Amino acid sequence: MRDIRDVIVVGAGLAGLQAALALQEAGLDVLVLEAADRVGGRVRSLDGPTGVEEAGAVNIGDGYTRLLGHVRAAGLDREPVTVSLREHTIVVDGHTSTAPAWAASEGNPLTGPERAVPPALIVAGALARANPLTGPRDWMSPEAARWDVPMPDHLRSLGVSDAAVALADRAGTFETLEATSALAMLRAAQRASRHAPQTSNVVGGNSRLPESMAARLREPVRPNSPVAAIRERGDLVEAELADGERIAAGHVVLAVPFTSLRRLAIEVALPGPVARLVAELPYPALTKYHLIADRPFWREDGLPPVTWTNGPIQRLLPWRLCDNGPSALAVWVTGRDARALDALGEREQRRVVLDELARVRPAAAGAVEITRIVSWGRDPWAGGAWAMPRPGQMAALAAAATADTGRVQLAGEHLSVEDSGMEGALESGDRAAARVLARLGRTPAGS
Ligand SMILES: Cc1cc2nc3c(=O)[nH]c(=O)nc-3n(C[C@H](O)[C@H](O)[C@H](O)COP(=O)(O)OP(=O)(O)OC[C@H]3O[C@@H](n4cnc5c(N)ncnc54)[C@H](O)[C@@H]3O)c2cc1C
Repeated sequence: MRDIRDVIVVGAGLAGLQAALALQEAGLDVLVLEAADRVGGRVRSLDGPTGVEEAGAVNIGDGYTRLLGHVRAAGLDREPVTVSLREHTIVVDGHTSTAPAWAASEGNPLTGPERAVPPALIVAGALARANPLTGPRDWMSPEAARWDVPMPDHLRSLGVSDAAVALADRAGTFETLEATSALAMLRAAQRASRHAPQTSNVVGGNSRLPESMAARLREPVRPNSPVAAIRERGDLVEAELADGERIAAGHVVLAVPFTSLRRLAIEVALPGPVARLVAELPYPALTKYHLIADRPFWREDGLPPVTWTNGPIQRLLPWRLCDNGPSALAVWVTGRDARALDALGEREQRRVVLDELARVRPAAAGAVEITRIVSWGRDPWAGGAWAMPRPGQMAALAAAATADTGRVQLAGEHLSVEDSGMEGALESGDRAAARVLARLGRTPAGS
């Protein structure tokens, strides 16, 4: 066994890096172990044919104070993200319309005032209209448990019809609406409402952010170092890597998604509800097909490039559009449709996606190629896009987010209290670091 660190951080995503920096600033000796060959986790910028493309996190909210602090400290610039659902094409059962024309579309199965709501906005619209959560911590109060029910039940209680629920179920941030807690969705809507609708990303790619954080660590992150087991040994915790190497430390911060954590041999006593959540918290599948279009096919059919369909490719979103050169777009597929595509070989996936795209947007036929397939569901270290609690899991999640788990602390976007996505990951990293420091009788630097 090598020398003993003060703290080992497992996972060099934003949560792990944030915890490591806070612990280092407080004077501790920190080693970050990362399974992949890069830092950043679900922040992953790719070199595409028209420039950088984001395979993972895209939007930086204007209220992401921790993240924006890192952007400023690293001297990075931001540019606005311009994709909006205000104008989009809707293709339902072969009938094509646009958001303003949707109410009159023959493909619209809804009746009454619901006909005017585009499928992509049914859930968001209903939640925004009647969100009982007004503060960032309201979701944790015992009274909030009444909304920890299947999403369709909550939508129906708001007067949303079964036909609208079925349409909305096709594509979203969830695996299925039935398997999703309404309280989790209300919490997401409350968090989103605190940020201006205008978002941005880092010029040169969001990956520059975790890279700049990793560069500030005294001891470099160790890539290609998947941790396979964590054991408490008296006053120490030992991390065992997949190749058998063992490294000891006084404390460990496990900043990995629960999908990965549940595959580790953890010989550490976690509180019962937390251990159950580690085993059971769902992560929806999400597969992205990065595309290049050699001509602006949306000018030929005169329809907005953003497309929502109730077919298997769900959503087409532009990334970088150009009228007189190649453009970058991506098909985003979540939930059951993503798992069905993930189960196919790569060649078959390409055929299905391009055939379906040609059916949904005939003008795109022959104009588009798939440049990259990124499956977050099949990514061994992510195991899905993000945590999306099932009905009945929110009280355990509140307990896990606030639990002091001793020498082994947990972090990650799934354990954020007030914010979500990248900012939530940073928030959870700060909390895990503060708990380690409190156990050592120290306070975080700058507090
Ligand atoms: C497609 C997509 C779009 C998104 N869009 C947005 C957005 O627009 N805005 C936003 O704010 N958020 C967005 N998110 C969410 C955001 O990316 C995450 O919330 C955040 O990056 C999670 O950070 P994390 O540190 O908690 O986890 P991760 O980034 O997953 O980091 C965990 C790290 O642990 C490593 N690891 C796992 N297992 C082990 C092991 N056994 N040993 C060692 N290392 C291990 C992983 O390789 C990874 O590097 C998006 C996510 C996806 C997938």
